Amino acid sequence: MKRMMLAGTAVAALVGAGATPAMAAGQIASAGPQAAAAVVPNNVLLADWTGPYEGVPPWDKVTPALFPQAFQFAIDEQRREIEAIANNPQAPTFVNTIEALERTGQRLGRVQSVFGVMTDNMSTPEYQALDKEWSPKLTAAFDEITLNPKLFQRVETLYNNRASLGLDAKQTRLLTRNYEYFVRNGAKLDSQQKARLSQMNQQLSSAFSDFNANLLADEGTFTRASAAEMAGVPQDVKDAAAAVAKDKGLPAGTYAIRNTRSAVEPVLTFGSNRALRQKVWQAFVDRGDNGDKNDTNAIISKIVKLRADRAKLLGYPSHAHWRMQDTMAKTPERAMDLMMRVWTPAVARVNEEVADQLVFAKKDGLGRIEPWDYRYYQEKVRKAKYDLSEDEIKPYFEQSNLLKGMLWSAERLYDLKFTENTGKVPVFHPDVRTFEVTNAKTGEIVGLWYLDTFAREGKRSGAWMTTYRSRARLLGDDIVLASNNNNFTKPEAGKPVLLSLDDASTMFHEFGHAINYLLIDVKYPSLGGLQRDFVEFPSQVNENWLLTRPVLEQFARHYQTGEPMPAALVDKIKKADTFNQGFATVEYLSSALVDMKLHLDPNGVVNPDAFEKATLAELGMPREMVMRHRLPQFGHLFSSDGYSAGYYSYLWSETMDADAWAAFEETGNPFDRATADRFRIYLLSTGNETDRAEAYRQFRGRDPDVNALLKRRGFPTGEVAPPATVGAERGE
Ligand SMILES: [Zn+2]
Repeated sequence: MKRMMLAGTAVAALVGAGATPAMAAGQIASAGPQAAAAVVPNNVLLADWTGPYEGVPPWDKVTPALFPQAFQFAIDEQRREIEAIANNPQAPTFVNTIEALERTGQRLGRVQSVFGVMTDNMSTPEYQALDKEWSPKLTAAFDEITLNPKLFQRVETLYNNRASLGLDAKQTRLLTRNYEYFVRNGAKLDSQQKARLSQMNQQLSSAFSDFNANLLADEGTFTRASAAEMAGVPQDVKDAAAAVAKDKGLPAGTYAIRNTRSAVEPVLTFGSNRALRQKVWQAFVDRGDNGDKNDTNAIISKIVKLRADRAKLLGYPSHAHWRMQDTMAKTPERAMDLMMRVWTPAVARVNEEVADQLVFAKKDGLGRIEPWDYRYYQEKVRKAKYDLSEDEIKPYFEQSNLLKGMLWSAERLYDLKFTENTGKVPVFHPDVRTFEVTNAKTGEIVGLWYLDTFAREGKRSGAWMTTYRSRARLLGDDIVLASNNNNFTKPEAGKPVLLSLDDASTMFHEFGHAINYLLIDVKYPSLGGLQRDFVEFPSQVNENWLLTRPVLEQFARHYQTGEPMPAALVDKIKKADTFNQGFATVEYLSSALVDMKLHLDPNGVVNPDAFEKATLAELGMPREMVMRHRLPQFGHLFSSDGYSAGYYSYLWSETMDADAWAAFEETGNPFDRATADRFRIYLLSTGNETDRAEAYRQFRGRDPDVNALLKRRGFPTGEVAPPATVGAERGE
């Protein structure tokens, strides 16, 4: 089941589009040599990280008041570092320019990394105000680098002479990517155009902060329900809702359903009270769209317009064309081709699913399925067709057991050994657990892994992975600091954490990102970041191990009896593998298609609600369901440039995932070590040091075949059209 590709993620949330490749996430170590010019103020955010693991973030000492001074000093220091490179009287060399660039901004990277965690996981009005103030300033600071004419001249000189510099393949790749980055982001514009570009970038940053604050506010709301209204909802979900109600000071016997996906979906799936389902559904799909102070429509219009104008200024037909330069797909057309290839069979499948559901809905006196009915009747169909209920699986999906299974898999596949050491290093919230990661064979320390499991106020919705420090040998950064962030509902003290299949897949998904970053072993920090439509590939592959027999049989144990999941239930889960894939696919693809079409508009003049409605009508969106992320709440698109014109990348990555997983299946052993070794060596540990399409061919012996994806989702495969492939183009 691949529904988890849909889980929101921000593995690279800190890799802002405003940063040069050299500033990309993870460039976090002690400051470069040029920094000696100023005395570092006594501010813990500016100090080198201390303690074990080559230093860890001082979460226990972070306060909002420390940030303004830290940001200002670190920005100024980075400026001095850049000036030293740009004004170097010596002729440009790879070392004094490109490698030197790789070393800049390390202190700023640390400050940003800590700040990003506070705004994503621990947001308060103070942090929101800081974000609003400093996002545009940071954008301006990075623009200053990209648009520095003397610096670019050095990069360009090197690029033009790259064949005669005696560089190896990785250095050539780094130089080329640097040059292309500068050009793509305005280095060749005249000074007036540059000023305008920087202004637009700052306005965008500020709009992203506004969007985030509004969405977070709407997700902090909840729907009240009585015991009678909660009929059918599983006990653990009710317990959690009761705990929230208690927290909110509501009278005993009332329930509070948070306006986040993990809280809403179980009610939509099991709640027999249709009016409650509708109320909860409406609140959820209306996030950001209520015409009140949290409404995001005006912000979105502004963002889309600014993006279109910026693309025009930079010489691209649209924001989508601009954003897709550094991707595997390369053009919006190729991404659209893949999406439309899957869209048609997915819609056909939804129609079949609805027909199945109507049999049950009619018994309840309903003439048709409304969007708040879909999950409820889908559950009835699942029960009837496969004698399988989500509720039957849950008692076996106790979070700490599955966590053990997940860690066990990583050790078996990649020799990554996880040993819990919670309490030994500072964390940003008492719920966060930590694990030392070592190589099981050599005992060498690989990294430290932070796990932040539960939803809370001030934490944004979805699930994501972050690195506080990535491996980059040039900087002496050997030990990776990685964090997984989920939003599971926290039960009352002493109650077990029972995960739905969806949540369990999300946990494995985010862990796949962490595995990837723990294994990346590159010299240059900039080559440690991943392309948007590759980054979801390793994480999606990792979801597959959840439903393998060794994991289910050993770790899916009943939370009360400790009994392993019965073989008959495992069989039923396997059999129901392609169940509901129409819904999952259309829910995702409608969002991805609306994203791409929105950002293909060269003028960017948009009324989000009207655009969404018209585009869905044109696509033939089934009326029984809605997009997974409607525009007013589509954080992937509007909380940064990150996934804008990029939500397709989950499908692109999944095409590789399905085909890669087939390689494991072909061996007859999901833990086949030779296949895992190839996967690690060619695809995981190389980061972006090699061409990703070429790396895939090294792993598989050929390009990925989209038929593996269609087959996995239970859709008809390749007879109609020639199979589309991803990654078929060589080079970047
Ligand atoms: Zn992901």
